[in-house]
Amino acid sequence: MTHHRVVIIGSGFSGLGMAIRLKQAGIEDFVILERAGDLGGTWRDNTYPGCQCDVESNLYSYSFAPRATWSRTYAPQAEIWDYLRECARKFALEKHIRYQHEVQSATWDDAAARWRIETAGGPFTAGVLVAATGPLSEPSIPAIPGLNEFPGPRFHSAAWDHGVDLAGKRVAVIGTGASAVQFVPRIQPEAARLYLFQRTPPWVLPHRDRPVRGLARALYRTVPAWQRVVRSFVYWSRELFVRPFMRPRPNSLPERLARTHLERQVADPGLRARLAPSYAIGCKRILISNVYYPAIQQPNVELVTDDIREVRGRAIVTGDGHEREVDVIILATGFRVTEMPFASRVTGRDGKSLADRWRPSPSAYRGVAVAGFPNLFFLLGPNTGLGHTSVLVMVEAQLRYVMGSLRHLERSGMSAIEVRREAQDGFDAEVQSRLRDTVWNAGGCRSWYLDSTGRNTTIWPGMTWPYVNMLRRFDPAAYHLSQRPA
Ligand code: NAP
Repeated sequence: MTHHRVVIIGSGFSGLGMAIRLKQAGIEDFVILERAGDLGGTWRDNTYPGCQCDVESNLYSYSFAPRATWSRTYAPQAEIWDYLRECARKFALEKHIRYQHEVQSATWDDAAARWRIETAGGPFTAGVLVAATGPLSEPSIPAIPGLNEFPGPRFHSAAWDHGVDLAGKRVAVIGTGASAVQFVPRIQPEAARLYLFQRTPPWVLPHRDRPVRGLARALYRTVPAWQRVVRSFVYWSRELFVRPFMRPRPNSLPERLARTHLERQVADPGLRARLAPSYAIGCKRILISNVYYPAIQQPNVELVTDDIREVRGRAIVTGDGHEREVDVIILATGFRVTEMPFASRVTGRDGKSLADRWRPSPSAYRGVAVAGFPNLFFLLGPNTGLGHTSVLVMVEAQLRYVMGSLRHLERSGMSAIEVRREAQDGFDAEVQSRLRDTVWNAGGCRSWYLDSTGRNTTIWPGMTWPYVNMLRRFDPAAYHLSQRPA
């Protein structure tokens, strides 16, 4: 059994960010437990064709590790994954990472004031546990009758099977979210036939991606302050962009832009009508693409808007009884965001699991701390997701806050720090009240932002700067400290 001052779960953007901040503070006694054989989280797993970040790389990167060499304004997956490996090298993180160490359980031991962690690679104990498991890490597999019996290849977009050759095949894609919009244009030219099963049409805006030319790269390299200016510009344009659609209003500017995009790219009024969303823009994540609408109008593509009833043998059967025979099924059905399977493996002070504590609906103080779970911090926890800008803005605010709590704990000489229940409940009530009339709650759609009770436990209500400001300083009054028995 090895003990560490801090144990981080997950080596995606937030886990690595935590590790970098610890190192910068001179703390070396930590490990990162990673269930896979490589680092990178969602940017390691999502290797589907065309995978690309839909936030500009100058903002979708750590502020403390800018990169001058992005090839495009919106970097492709391989480059982002490479960036994370580069950061791990630059900050000497590799020696701290324990691969193939999936966490099976984490239990708070009150007498010893530490976390006892069982992993696939052996047990650990931790003074402080940081859960950086990521909201987009558990693929959601739809409960379609007969899907498991489909005799051909079938895979989720986040576990793309590159061994399956799609050339000349009849391919079914289920889902039209952020992932599908990126890979459908890539696989359409290969497939003999592509059936795209759409349950709800997404809002799609034009993409402004372009190559980063030599001059810009040279400037970023030689005048780093210039890249910081560009980063700030991107940040504030996105903050301002969210305002027109935060409250659902018909015909908002972003909605008009998206409608014009649809009208320009899709001539057939019948198809256009089937692609036109009937909910307010922003209610679901807004997608960006210049190639999605053109791809789905190719003669080998059929947009299917009838509900899927079942998979029968090789056929996908829709509600109207129509059967479409396919060779491959690709599930672009998103992630289990609000359930967080990891929560059932964490047991707190009173012997209750986090999943029980979070039933029927999760919450956390400032998205990072939960009463009953001392010395545990979440990165990108409940209500700190975003629909309009880089989540790394939230992650960096949380890293600063967690570092503040570590310093506070150390200075106090105590062994445990736990958020007060009333602080957590008060914060949750305020967030929920601010969310009430926003597009994410009242936009007229059903999205993964809402949990099974209909509560929005995913999204931060609006601009990010108030959150960043709020987390600038650790606030000891919201916590109580305790000492382990002598
Ligand atoms: P998603 O946005 O949740 O989309 C899932 C799609 O599957 C939706 O169209 C959904 O329809 C459909 N679906 C789910 N269950 C279904 C069922 N049983 N039958 C038929 N259709 C079903 O998932 P995603 O595209 O993987 O994206 C998830 C999130 O990952 C994004 O919102 C974004 O935050 C992130 N992401 C980012 C990027 C990027 O940066 N470029 C790329 C990919 C993903 P309904 O709309 O009707 O539910």
